[in-house]
Formats: sequence, structure tokens, C-alpha cells
Amino acid sequence: MNVTVVGAGISGLATAFVIQQRARRLGLNINLRIFEKDTCPGGKIRSEWSDGYLCEWGPNGFLDSKPTTLGLCCEAGLEERLLPSNDAARKRFIFSHGRLQRVPETAGDFFRSSLVSWPGKLRLAGEILVPRRKDDADETLADFVRRRLGQEALDQMVGPMAAGIFAGDPETMSLRSCFPRIHELEQQYGGLIRALLLLARKKRAERRAGKAVAGAAGPGGVLTSFAGGIQELTDGLARHLAPNLHLAEAIAAITPLKEGFSLQTGQGRVYETEVLVAAVPAMALAAQIEGFSSSMAAHLRQIPYAPLQVACFGYRKDAVPLSLDGFGYLAARRSGLHSLGTLWSSSIFPGRAPEGHVLLRTMFGGATRPDAADLSADEVRARIQEDLLRTMSIKQMPDFVKIIRHSTAIPQYVSGHSARLKVLEGKLSAYPGLILAGNAFYGVGLNDCVASAGRAADRVLTLLQQRYRH
Ligand SMILES: Cc1cc2nc3c(=O)[nH]c(=O)nc-3n(C[C@H](O)[C@H](O)[C@H](O)COP(=O)(O)OP(=O)(O)OC[C@H]3O[C@@H](n4cnc5c(N)ncnc54)[C@H](O)[C@@H]3O)c2cc1C
Repeated sequence: MNVTVVGAGISGLATAFVIQQRARRLGLNINLRIFEKDTCPGGKIRSEWSDGYLCEWGPNGFLDSKPTTLGLCCEAGLEERLLPSNDAARKRFIFSHGRLQRVPETAGDFFRSSLVSWPGKLRLAGEILVPRRKDDADETLADFVRRRLGQEALDQMVGPMAAGIFAGDPETMSLRSCFPRIHELEQQYGGLIRALLLLARKKRAERRAGKAVAGAAGPGGVLTSFAGGIQELTDGLARHLAPNLHLAEAIAAITPLKEGFSLQTGQGRVYETEVLVAAVPAMALAAQIEGFSSSMAAHLRQIPYAPLQVACFGYRKDAVPLSLDGFGYLAARRSGLHSLGTLWSSSIFPGRAPEGHVLLRTMFGGATRPDAADLSADEVRARIQEDLLRTMSIKQMPDFVKIIRHSTAIPQYVSGHSARLKVLEGKLSAYPGLILAGNAFYGVGLNDCVASAGRAADRVLTLLQQRYRH
């Protein structure tokens, strides 16, 4: 039985790995192939060492609060290589009103902080009085936050967070699709403060009853990577799959057959497969299926992607006046900065910069500034230097610079995303052997991608077992 995965980013590799392991355990004899357009696997994940600095092209880690990626690492034999972030990484900052301000971690810190004004704090505390929204509209993140917490909470806290995770624009992002848990909390408990109080009470009761509750890492968890960078994850998976990996072999077109699909590669080769997992970006899948379903292709093309430029700057320690004790900062809305924020990479994980040096990683562009993707590397560099002077008083030129351009960095789940997915899933049911995975649909974090891979692998194995029985 032929099983094919298209795309060897984390979603495709994790799907293929889980299928391989479980098929082996179940004694299913499958011919597994993975097609990847690029010459190396990993997709958005790439860790590049240069002059002793580790420059992450995409993600710099995953949170250990969910078992998905952590479990995958253990299953792939990568447990020993895991590297938790330094304690300092818990301290996060927002650049607002011309200075870096620590993000409060507790209610007490919040009331002492000057990140939000007193009227803004009172408005936020008044959330407890805001009624639950009853209609089923797909509210944007900005509308939700303005309605429940006020404009200042949006500008000073939630807007920067949306930029940090999705490079997104809260005015268009769907609350339900981007932050499903927050949507659920309002629906289930009537409000966020109410939910926090009730959940804290439940946790205390569980503790009294001797039940295990979440550890000190808290709900956010600890950002985790590897000594050699996050690419160790995809390299580790790729090693297990090596004989099955077809690198530099893009799939140009998919055609449904009576049983399964025919795949045509960019080089004109043709393969057949009974089961197919598509783990490519939405617009790539749209191009592949255009020939047999222009309506599914049109739905996929409605998922927009935000562009990003990622800039790694290395400095001698004495060129940076700030102590860099923390994770880094995000820009408040209307802060006047060119960039979305800067991570203090060498403070987050050990060994990311040569001795006596530091590494900063700045995000530039995103859904609110799509034109930034077109700026040249020199223009990006100049704007970031301007920002670093304002935020961290860095006057010197960096010793090391690496700028990576992602023209389609992160999919944006804009209002209407969940309805679009429903229609897409309805149309897909006509092709039971075609299964979707990847970050275009149900979450962009590595944990979400690995979870989507697990669901895709489950569906493949169910199909295989059904067919074996016949
Ligand atoms: C700058 C940046 C920072 C991020 N930071 C974090 C972070 O710190 N933590 C976190 O959890 N997440 C982070 N993310 C999100 C996370 O990295 C991505 O959502 C995730 O890596 C996407 O994986 P994927 O496999 O779904 O897609 P991709 O990585 O995009 O993989 C898709 C693959 O399909 C291949 N492909 C495309 N067309 C074809 C074709 N025709 N034929 C064959 N192959 C094809 C591509 O070459 C690619 O390898 C970040 C993302 C970016 C861009």
C-alpha cells in the first residue's frame, strides 16, 4: 500500500514519522514516500551556525506545557538533546511610551506596573461585569479585547502578543481560530476574570485532594529547543525517514484516480498513491489541486500569509548597554518602532553566541506592515539599528548580521477562517484518501503542527486498517 506525504516541514515529517512507527508496530506493510520541494527538510525550521552565532530562520523553540512536541522528541530518541530555556526567559518586556516595561506576571505586578494607565486598569478589572457574548459571530481579536478588556489592554498587551505569535493584525484575526481557549473561557464561564478565579479555585481543591496539578512552569510552559538549535528536531525525524525522503522533488499536480491519487512532480515524473497527506502551505496545495477542484483551491487561496524578515544581529557584550536579563521585547501598538520586537536570543538559550558576545533577533514586517517584506536587507538593517538605538541605546554597528526574508511566513486565521475550513472539509469528504496537515488550518505553533500531524496519521492508519481488512 502506497502512502505519500507532501511537504517535509515539521507537520509533514511528524506525520510520516508517526505513520512509520505505528505501521511497524501494527505489522502493516506500507510503501511510505515524502516529497519535499526544497533540497533540505525542515520547512520554516532552519538553524544556521555562522561565526559562532546560531541564527534561527524560523521558530526558536516549542513550549513544554503540551505533551505533543515533547512526546515526539522522546519517540524519535532526541530526549537527551533537549535544551530548556534559561530562567531569565520568563521576563518579558513591552516597548511603550519610549521605554522597556516588564510584562506583569501576577495581578499584584499588574496593578503596580505602569504599562497600562489607572483608567485602563479599572477598565480591565471591569471585565468581570461584561456580559458573555451570545451570538455566534466570528469576532476579531481586537473587537473581543475592546469589548471585554478595553482599548488600552489591546494596544499595550494583546496587540504585541498577537504580533509575537502570529505576526498578525488583531483587527482581522479571528479570536475563535487564533485563540480557541480564550473563546471557550468566555463561553463556558461568562468571562476571563471569572474563569481565572473559578479555575484557580478548582486547582486549589484538587491540590487539597492530593491530585497532581500543572507544575511550576505554569500554563505557558518552558520554551524548549536543542543544543544545536531547533533544526535538531526536523533533522532527527528526517534521519528516521531517510530512505523515504524525496528531496528537491516538488509535487506540481494531484489528480484523483478511482482508488487513490496520481502525483505529478515538477520534473514530470508520475507516482501513484492510495493515501495522500498534504502538509504544504495553503497556496501550494491550491496550485496542486486546481485541476480537479477549483472551488477547494479558491478556499485555500483565501487563507492569507503574513510576510516577515528575521534579522540576527551579533554584538560584543560591551556594545550593548542593557543587561539583557530576559526574553526580549515586543513593540506596543503605536510605539513608533519599525520592527515588531527583538528577542535576546543569547539570554534565552546558552551557547547561542561566541564568548563575550550577544545575539539579538528582530522580527520585521507581519500582517500590519506587509510592505516591509519588499525592503532590501540594507533598508531593514538601517531601520532595525534605529529601533535598537531607541529601545536599548545600542549605538554601535553589529559585528554580525544575517537577514532572512520569508515572503509567506505565517498563515493568518482571519475572521471567517473556521467557516472556510468547514466548507473545505465538506468538499474534502468526497476524497477520503486526501488528508490535510500543517499550520494553515488549526494552529501555527510547533505543538499545533505536531498535533495536526498526529490527527493526520490517525486518519491514515484508520484508512489502512480498513483497506487491509477487505
Ligand atoms: C519567523 C518565524 C518564527 C516562528 N517562531 C515560532 C516559535 O518560536 N515557536 C513555535 O511554536 N512556532 C513558531 N513559528 C511557527 C512555526 O515555525 C510554523 O508554523 C511551522 O514550522 C510550520 O510547519 P509546517 O510543516 O506546517 O509548514 P512549513 O514549515 O511551511 O513546511 C511546508 C513544506 O512544504 C514544502 N512544499 C511547498 N510546496 C511544495 C510542493 N509543491 N511539493 C513538495 N513540497 C512542497 C515546503 O518547501 C516546506 O518544506 C514561527 C514561524 C516563523 C516563520
